[in-house]
Amino acid sequence: MIKREHFCRNCIIPDGFLGLKLDEEGLCDYCRNPSHKNANWSKVKIDIEKKKQMHNDWKQVIKKLQKTKRNRMYDCVLGYSGGKDSTALLDYLINELRLNVLAITIDTGFMTDIAKQNIRDTLNRMNLKEHHIFIDDVSKTFTRLYRWLFFNHQSNSVSLTVNVCDQCSDLIHSIIVNEAIKRNIRYVFFGYSPDQIKRYFYEVPREEALNEWKAIFIDLAPFTEKDRNCFLNSDKISIKDMPRILLPYHVMNYDERAIIEIVEKKGLIQKGKADPILTNCHVVKAAAMYDFYRYGGLTYVLQYAELVRQAPDDKSRRINRKKWLRLYKGIAQSIFKGTFNVEGIERFLESIGCTMEEILESIIHFRNHDPNKNKILENLDLLNIKK
Ligand SMILES: [Zn+2]
Repeated sequence: MIKREHFCRNCIIPDGFLGLKLDEEGLCDYCRNPSHKNANWSKVKIDIEKKKQMHNDWKQVIKKLQKTKRNRMYDCVLGYSGGKDSTALLDYLINELRLNVLAITIDTGFMTDIAKQNIRDTLNRMNLKEHHIFIDDVSKTFTRLYRWLFFNHQSNSVSLTVNVCDQCSDLIHSIIVNEAIKRNIRYVFFGYSPDQIKRYFYEVPREEALNEWKAIFIDLAPFTEKDRNCFLNSDKISIKDMPRILLPYHVMNYDERAIIEIVEKKGLIQKGKADPILTNCHVVKAAAMYDFYRYGGLTYVLQYAELVRQAPDDKSRRINRKKWLRLYKGIAQSIFKGTFNVEGIERFLESIGCTMEEILESIIHFRNHDPNKNKILENLDLLNIKK
């Protein structure tokens, strides 16, 4: 049985997970201090003044693009994932703002045929087929990146999930920005919602994209010249060649429900497929499984706990807490039983060319060197009810 005080009594953060601790009252770091920062999850408070300023900038950008649009084929590039957020943004840029948009989708090699077909269907419905490209000759680069990360993740405090997501998005963004530079398009937009503020608010500084997106290990074997060319190369690109990289949802008035409604009503995305919580990424799911054995908990718990904390009143918080705790334990059980996302994980392991045993061996190696090892094993024991 899991003792009650093992999880934060206000949200559901487990004691000792990724450096988070419960105090003597049973409250976690986030519940004691709402602005608590942890490398794996922190809530970003938006400065209203700054948001206003940036919103003005966004309006200026749009005005400028609308005024000068006759001079070029495309006004901007949109990184297009096929999800509700980027679909609604694409619709807004084209149908409300009347901009000429080139939508770019990167296939990391893990996109299912169904997902690709859904993207094609959506763009057909929007009459945008000719203004969209799939970049799908980069899957080997992604595969090598993932394999490297899964076998060389040395941190005792940052989860593999966070590391993989950061490195993978830096690579995706680099490929898209490189494509924009090649076509001399001066603006690149990404449809991240306001709750997806991690490193950047509204604008990615050009210097940072140019100098810091490149993976630090990319010059080592087994990475190839082609892999390195996917990143932005500061030897070949000067700062003035860099487009502006903007995240407009951070300053627009964003209403998630309204966005889901718009994309579903227009028939752009089938009803029910615009689920905001559960990720469809097999790589993230494999990383979550890695983190489970490595750090003694599910990285999803950070997001679930945030949703519990955001409940409008005490009663709904308690109901939510129960619901998410049950889901958390259920997923933990399915990992122990080996039934968690079986097909997706098998496919992932096959593509990076290794077995589950090899990954577990690597996990145990790093876990044995973790000063928090005993607590990790204790947390795993607590979740493994059968034991
Ligand atoms: Zn808490």
